[in-house]
Amino acid sequence: MGAVLVIDIRRLSEAPVRVEGVIADDHPGWSGTDVELGGSLNVEATAEGSPTRGIWVRGSLKGRLKTACRRCLEPLELDISESFHMLFDPKTAEGEGDLDLYGFDAGADELDLRPHLIERFLLLVPAFPECAAGCAGYCARCGADLSEEECRCAPAESDPRWGPLRALKAEGEI
Ligand SMILES: [Zn+2]
Ligand SMILES: [Zn+2]
Repeated sequence: MGAVLVIDIRRLSEAPVRVEGVIADDHPGWSGTDVELGGSLNVEATAEGSPTRGIWVRGSLKGRLKTACRRCLEPLELDISESFHMLFDPKTAEGEGDLDLYGFDAGADELDLRPHLIERFLLLVPAFPECAAGCAGYCARCGADLSEEECRCAPAESDPRWGPLRALKAEGEI
């Protein structure tokens, strides 16, 4: 599976090539990353151009990321998708250029999209995933789920805003 994400460059001279396929979660391109997928990465794209002029690949990728909320640490699965527009230019050295510009060997018969698609997916992985916008997390002291309930801790001693309230409490007024 997944071999259909390798473009047969010789066919491009006749007509644009439509590619569709999956990158399995055990593809070697994922090794060394700490990304865990919930299933495969799904890709559909159209390639056109020629080895000498360059090859345009337009399409979309869709995958599910297994992670955890950075605030409450609950397991979390996120759907990640992106439309992309990549140019493989024989005059560009591999590793040079911006996110959408890639080099490739003009003498090659095939263009394997998978390493580039994995790289793009990794760039879409959020650094601070949250289970819900504004998840308040848990209080590090009393463990209260701050999205569900008020924290049970006494106000921090160092917060001067609570000074007057503490004074009232000490006098037995509240
Ligand atoms: Zn959360
Ligand atoms: Zn607390």
